Amino acid sequence: MKEVTSPVIVRDILSRYKLSCRKNLGQNFLIDSNIANKIVAAAELRPTDLVVEIGPGLGALTARAAGSAGKVLAVEIDRGLLSALAETLEGVGDVKVIHGDALEIDFDNLVQERTGGKFGQGGERYKLLANLPYYITSPLLLRLLLKRYNISLMVVMVQLEVAARLAAAPGSKDYGALSVAAQYFTEAQILFRVPGTVFFPQPEVSSAVVRLAVRPEPAVPARDEETFFKVVRAAFGRRRKTLLNSLAGSEFGIGKGVWKAVLESSGIAPARRGETLSLAEFALITDNLLAMRG
Ligand code: SAM
Repeated sequence: MKEVTSPVIVRDILSRYKLSCRKNLGQNFLIDSNIANKIVAAAELRPTDLVVEIGPGLGALTARAAGSAGKVLAVEIDRGLLSALAETLEGVGDVKVIHGDALEIDFDNLVQERTGGKFGQGGERYKLLANLPYYITSPLLLRLLLKRYNISLMVVMVQLEVAARLAAAPGSKDYGALSVAAQYFTEAQILFRVPGTVFFPQPEVSSAVVRLAVRPEPAVPARDEETFFKVVRAAFGRRRKTLLNSLAGSEFGIGKGVWKAVLESSGIAPARRGETLSLAEFALITDNLLAMRG
């Protein structure tokens, strides 16, 4: 194992493998071993755990995770990093680096294949660990949540602003569709802030580490999940409009009269803004809409 703890080491490895930091792939490598230890500790790894890591980079988190978990599957999009990783992860526990795109891969299938069916859908739950690339944080998190992979816990480092959105309460400026999805499927908690100085190259923004503990059941019972998230998207679609206008102008294509009746039977004022609704209220609107449509 080779520890990547300074800009000098990162530069040396990259130059020996004829690589450069690819900004378009969100390559900001973690060079602080204390922070790396804290992130991996937050995943509470045991020798029986399987960990999927997204974007191992030069292996700062991968090597540590492999020291505590039974097995690590690390998915990296940049093929060039694979040979560098072979060097930094040499002699480290059970790690498999897989070349792939986290936005495309079916994670349950991957772990099923790589563990002979022990983990994944129908098998045991696994953990997800990542210092996420900035350029795809929100779509990737949404995908991980909505696909309902058989994951028990996600520990992810994201921009501070995304961390705030994941944990935001209704009515706050950060509350949006990502907050609802995160809180519907998981218990979301911001663990600690991370300054830009612990990365090479340094990003312009600060980051935070977030713990997303996947709930055994969604936080609120919605009769139909697809409609629930369609209502959420519709309510947040036009931020400065009233809830009634947002819903009536949405992809549902349902007239104002129907929405008025749905809101009335839900006990929700049509003049409210979508961003003030709680998860329970979104579920209520969903159920009353479905009831009205038969
Ligand atoms: N984990 C390393 C660390 O903490 O130093 C690297 C983190 S860096 C912020 C993000 C990593 O994700 C990079 O290695 C980048 O190449 C990789 N990456 C970017 N887009 C990806 C994608 N779509 N699928 C998988 N990996 C991706």
